[in-house]
Amino acid sequence: MGEFFITLFLFVSVAAITFVIFSSWAVVLAFKGIGRLFGNLLADSGRANQKCANQICGQVNPPTAQFCRRCGRALRPRFV
Ligand SMILES: [Zn+2]
Repeated sequence: MGEFFITLFLFVSVAAITFVIFSSWAVVLAFKGIGRLFGNLLADSGRANQKCANQICGQVNPPTAQFCRRCGRALRPRFV
């Protein structure tokens, strides 16, 4: 009967260790996901309309634009 309890104890402890490792991994993964989500939100909110650097033009372009709509001048790169 003693052997059964030892086996049960070992099984439970292994299961507990596995659970702890898995839950900590899941928490780390969740935090990483949340961080990425917030990073994206901040990056999106940080994007404002881009005014053309050309003094004569001065066209206001959308945040995603890489080149000026009016004069075709290259705007600031998207990857800042
Ligand atoms: Zn322009």
